Amino acid sequence: MNQFAAPRKSLGQNFLQDPNIINKIVSSLGLKANDVALEIGPGRGALTELMLPLAKSLHLVEYDRDLVAYWQDRALSAESLSVHGVDILKFDLTDIVDAEQQKIKVIGNLPYNISSPVLFHLMKYADQIESQVVMLQKEVVQRMSASPGGKDYGRLSVMLQQRYAIEYLFTVPPGAFFPPPKVESAIARLTPLAEVLHPVDSHADFAQLVKQAFSQRRKTLRNTLKGMLSAEQIESVGVTPSVRAETLSVSEFAALANCYTAG
Ligand code: SAM
Repeated sequence: MNQFAAPRKSLGQNFLQDPNIINKIVSSLGLKANDVALEIGPGRGALTELMLPLAKSLHLVEYDRDLVAYWQDRALSAESLSVHGVDILKFDLTDIVDAEQQKIKVIGNLPYNISSPVLFHLMKYADQIESQVVMLQKEVVQRMSASPGGKDYGRLSVMLQQRYAIEYLFTVPPGAFFPPPKVESAIARLTPLAEVLHPVDSHADFAQLVKQAFSQRRKTLRNTLKGMLSAEQIESVGVTPSVRAETLSVSEFAALANCYTAG
């Protein structure tokens, strides 16, 4: 008999079952014997069991109480495994980094209903993370890795690319999961930039400006940024006020945000 309860839709439980895909995802993280890894949502362990022998220690953050109990039991016979039964959005990654005294590698086949909040939560710890391999809805990965000029380029692209190098690694079809989701998925690798290429003076101002610039995609910056920056201020950093947000590079957004912060 199956030892697991039926998959819980509310927790985004689509479990990986294709061994080739599972191998490819774990390989993408490039685990070495001295690494500390964190898996978000181990579920029934498709990625977990493969990673366990590869890293020095493996931390799991799982929210489903039954699965937490399963992993706590599993940890009794796996010394390198630590189980944290909490919501990832409330989990402080510094706890692991402090205990292990080294940066961590993060992996997760993320619950799609909270994918953006999880990405923004992880970004707070970017300087403590070596690299991050995540599975998300394909459209989200396309948006994360998009270049300026296209319809996929938006707030998510700018906010994440200011902090990470982002690679779209490969697409995963619904058949790789049980139960199969309704949409295609994709794997992304996010590597925190060792040196931030486009520094911002205030991250909060940067976030606010990017959000406002994309609030009405069809409008020009002169209109969307009204109340934040005048047309003259926009021009002063070399940006044309009559263009739309989707044409701007991350560096231009950073320049606009810094101009706003300077007042
Ligand atoms: N890693 C497994 C796999 O690939 O087969 C499971 C992936 S499943 C898409 C998502 C997992 O995240 C589930 O195990 C689910 O219980 C867990 N989860 C959902 N919400 C969570 C949260 N807020 N914090 C931590 N884990 C969560």
